[in-house]
Amino acid sequence: QMTLGVMGGGQLGRMFVQAAQAMGYFTAVLDPDPASPAGLISHFHIQTAYDDEQGLAQLMQRCDAITTEFENVPAPALVTLGAHRPVAPSAPCVAVAQDRIKEKAHFLACAPVSGVYPAPYAAIESDELLAAVPADLLPGILKTARMGYDGKGQMRVSTREELASAWEQLGRVPCVLEKMLPLQSECSVIVARGTNGQVVSFPVQANTHRDGILATTEVYEGAVPADLAERAQASTVAIANHLHYVGVLCVEYFVVDNGTGGQDLVVNEMAPRPHNSGHYTQNACDMSQFEAQVRTLAGLPLPQPRQHSPAIMVNLLGDLWFEPNATHAERSERAVTPPWTQVLALPGTHLHLYGKLSARPGRKMGHLNITAPTVAQVRETAAQVLQLLGLRT
Ligand code: ATP
Ligand code: MG
Ligand code: MG
Repeated sequence: QMTLGVMGGGQLGRMFVQAAQAMGYFTAVLDPDPASPAGLISHFHIQTAYDDEQGLAQLMQRCDAITTEFENVPAPALVTLGAHRPVAPSAPCVAVAQDRIKEKAHFLACAPVSGVYPAPYAAIESDELLAAVPADLLPGILKTARMGYDGKGQMRVSTREELASAWEQLGRVPCVLEKMLPLQSECSVIVARGTNGQVVSFPVQANTHRDGILATTEVYEGAVPADLAERAQASTVAIANHLHYVGVLCVEYFVVDNGTGGQDLVVNEMAPRPHNSGHYTQNACDMSQFEAQVRTLAGLPLPQPRQHSPAIMVNLLGDLWFEPNATHAERSERAVTPPWTQVLALPGTHLHLYGKLSARPGRKMGHLNITAPTVAQVRETAAQVLQLLGLRT
């Protein structure tokens, strides 16, 4: 019986475990949290720090192959694991995705092939580099090179003075300053690449964010203009190939006005794992992004996935578990259960909750996939769901 391991026990690890178990694999999760969503449902749960030598040794002993579910796994831990077991994605690939400076350099290297560039940017790692920032990068967004997610570790700056004080506030850690672009929309693409170099790609996802966190993903014909969708897919394949990537990779893109009435694509960042924007694949495709992750890890065949239903994914953040406008102090008394009975009475609604023991505003508690036979119907159901949940489109 083959055992598949995963570094990290969050919701992405949990859904990987579910996909692996559905296909008959045993699973092992390494996560220090005894209540981690993936650890709770896995055959083996190793509760140590990610860089703990004994924990890593146990994981290797248990597992035939190992993957990751978040990009901030210490790269040296992946090197250790990779010396003894197949690890996908590999330590060097994860290291690129962990560091915006390396990541953007990789995107620039791919641009001649992909035709898609990152936003104009400068790396800021010293006072000299700070002083040398070209004026046309302002107004911009200062982002820490490492560890940021859901818009954390980012500050918007308009002037050199603001830039200097923002860098102080972020602790003078390595950062990138990106030019602020007038975004028309955002999209992302998930690809899976096998050890043999075969790549398959999922349909392009149209994403909306609220407060820096993904709110909804829509995937159906016309959600992203066909020419942009084609370019985004080709770019993502080029980015994966150039890294000799193995596993599931998500790349995020911005759609901007190209100045001559058309639209242009800008590559934003990548995640070396399944992605929140790919959750719709669980109910709308004949292979989910998590099954693709299992297949690449286990060396199984990787046929091109097919989307069979128009889909909309709605993220379920912890805010839904509290009465609107409840203050921080009132939250414990004003906890509510979202109206699942009404939501699930609508056709084509698929509820996914992550088993997290406590809700906090902004915390990802679950998601709802909506499928329907037509685009009009999926949009209609989504409107009803958002109404029931008190979310605005
Ligand atoms: P994630 O949770 O997706 O990993 P993150 O914290 O790594 O997010 P980014 O994806 O870089 O952050 O940025 C978050 C959001 O901020 C983007 O989805 C986009 O809406 C906005 N944003 C980021 N960079 C720019 C930019 N250069 N110009 C305009 N808007 C931007
Ligand atoms: Mg990110
Ligand atoms: Mg992002």
